[in-house]
Amino acid sequence: MRDAATASYESIFSVLAPRHCVLCQQVLPEKHWSSFVCQACFDAFPPAPPSESIMAVYRKQFPAESLRNELPLGRIFARFSMAESLEEQGATAMRHLVHLLKYHRLPSLGVELGAILGAWQMAHEAHHSYDALVPVPLHSARARERGYNQAEMLCNGVASAMAHGSVICRETNVIRRRNYTLSQTFLNAKERATNLHNVIVRGKEAERIRGKRVLLVDDVCTTGTTLHYCALALKEAGAAHVDALALAKA
Ligand SMILES: [Zn+2]
Repeated sequence: MRDAATASYESIFSVLAPRHCVLCQQVLPEKHWSSFVCQACFDAFPPAPPSESIMAVYRKQFPAESLRNELPLGRIFARFSMAESLEEQGATAMRHLVHLLKYHRLPSLGVELGAILGAWQMAHEAHHSYDALVPVPLHSARARERGYNQAEMLCNGVASAMAHGSVICRETNVIRRRNYTLSQTFLNAKERATNLHNVIVRGKEAERIRGKRVLLVDDVCTTGTTLHYCALALKEAGAAHVDALALAKA
């Protein structure tokens, strides 16, 4: 979804001006590994809670399915924490970074963060292997507004990091968002869930996911509700197993 205008703006900008950390505005050293974040800001990002704690929160959202052992998601992994309850500067900085990724037309920030996310997943959870990566879909109208789907950019980065280990395909048309719905903010938790169940559906290439082990990729995981309905649609399409990987846990 990266358009030519965005790409050329980014490349012109990087040639004309020294690169600055998007969080603290310090000039980035030459040949620094990141085009966006300085080492000090990066080192301050707090880690997300372990998968077990994230899963405990998720199971509480769906107690009946959990009891019947019918949750569509096997595991949820997240790399960093951006929890509001954390007063730490690093958590505030991660919230800001996610905001930049979503609303400031920085698709290559998404790819870079995705590569970090994929390398971390490979290093820590290498025993979980996948056949396909699927970004959490954004409605096409919203993707047009933003210029891209940030989850898809993350997914591209994750794929590049994981390509060293095995051949893994990215699937962007196996699930989709059906309607441009009311902003989720105006709905209570139950309405929000019902709403999601109706809008995250199989896409035109859903068949491609049959029998596959899937890793869903998103920018933020809060309670796991969105990931749950994406995983449900993937399972309905015949996916053998679904885990999820998020950049940040809210
Ligand atoms: Zn910085």
